[in-house]
Amino acid sequence: MSTLQVAKAKPDPIFALAARYQADPHPKKTDLGIGAYRSNEGKPWVLPVVHEVEKLMANDPTLTHEYSPLAGNKDFYEAGARLIFGNDIDVKKVGSIQTLSGTGANHMGALLLRHYTPFGKGAKTIWVPTPTWGNHYQIFQTVGFEVKAYPYWDGENKKLDFEGLLDTLKNKTADGDTIVLHACAHNPTGMDPTKEQWEQIAEVFKQKELFAFFDSAYQGFASGDVDRDAWAVRYFVEKGIDLLVCQSFSKNMGLYGERCGALHVLLHDSTPEVAENITSQLAYQTRGEVSTTPAFGSRIAQKILTTPELYKQWDSEIKLMSSRIIEMRKALRGKLEELKTPGTWNHITEQIGMFSFIGLPEASCKRLTDEFHIYLLPNSRISVAGLNTSNVEYVAECIHKVVT
Ligand code: PMP
Repeated sequence: MSTLQVAKAKPDPIFALAARYQADPHPKKTDLGIGAYRSNEGKPWVLPVVHEVEKLMANDPTLTHEYSPLAGNKDFYEAGARLIFGNDIDVKKVGSIQTLSGTGANHMGALLLRHYTPFGKGAKTIWVPTPTWGNHYQIFQTVGFEVKAYPYWDGENKKLDFEGLLDTLKNKTADGDTIVLHACAHNPTGMDPTKEQWEQIAEVFKQKELFAFFDSAYQGFASGDVDRDAWAVRYFVEKGIDLLVCQSFSKNMGLYGERCGALHVLLHDSTPEVAENITSQLAYQTRGEVSTTPAFGSRIAQKILTTPELYKQWDSEIKLMSSRIIEMRKALRGKLEELKTPGTWNHITEQIGMFSFIGLPEASCKRLTDEFHIYLLPNSRISVAGLNTSNVEYVAECIHKVVT
């Protein structure tokens, strides 16, 4: 017998679904699985502003393929900190590091809390909403966290379970626990707290000295406005709540495969020295895991974020993506209502961001995939970005068939 006995790992549900979609020869196959923006022609979309920057880079004789510093591209992550916290932030007080996109930021943030909090105790419990991005569990368990769940989605009434959420934060968490919050465009439900609800949530964080672990993978995708989408994070900062932000440029710059992201840690009593210590620990950790992070995506994001004309163009391209998604939400809801499909469908347009939790039982989702070649998650999450003017009617008709 060999020394290494390895059983096959269970497939990742989203990537397995994508593979099934790829292999399906059916002409009407529809991919509503993976959270990646698609044009109205159903194609991946390189943002024209990204393409512009790539052309500039190709002709820039000063660019090399040298290693990045251990903490990554400083101009990039400082610009990222300004994007999420606002231009007035003193970036010297933010402990930042470049990461392997949002996933890497979640990992590094979890590791930091696990080993250095506050800063010394070593957090053991982390709370995530039910449901949450599936990868949260694996990321946090990998670094030894016990993952607990707080209520978020009220499936029966297709709305936020705000009472359940607040009650758990108030009465079930221990002082100083870490709580994962989706900064905007909650994945998978597409349902965010209102400003008033965020204020109440922040109040509990203050009272119990909870640590806010903001996952920000969709800034700009919720409302089409990067500042509006950063409101909750900025409000928590204003209230002096200790927090970190996992920042991804996968969706809002379409840099998925380039693994472009950052982690920002901001404590209420931070000083440049505290921030530097945090960055140094994160850099040390990065060295042992991946040595340095990829340069390419960070250069693109940095250029866009720090060049006013390019930033303006990016802003308009985000608006274009988010408004196409809003149109598709309206079209899907409209068609289902026109067909008089049993149930209520208003939640599809009330939800925001890339995803909609349409509220079908698992068996109906399975039928949609097996019989009608529409690929969606078994919990009925659809990526609205996969809808377009050519397939939305087909999708509505098939939903109608599985519901009636
Ligand atoms: N957090 C959430 C909530 C997400 O939905 C995603 C993307 N699916 C990520 C983090 C990380 O994505 P990436 O690593 O591609 O930036």
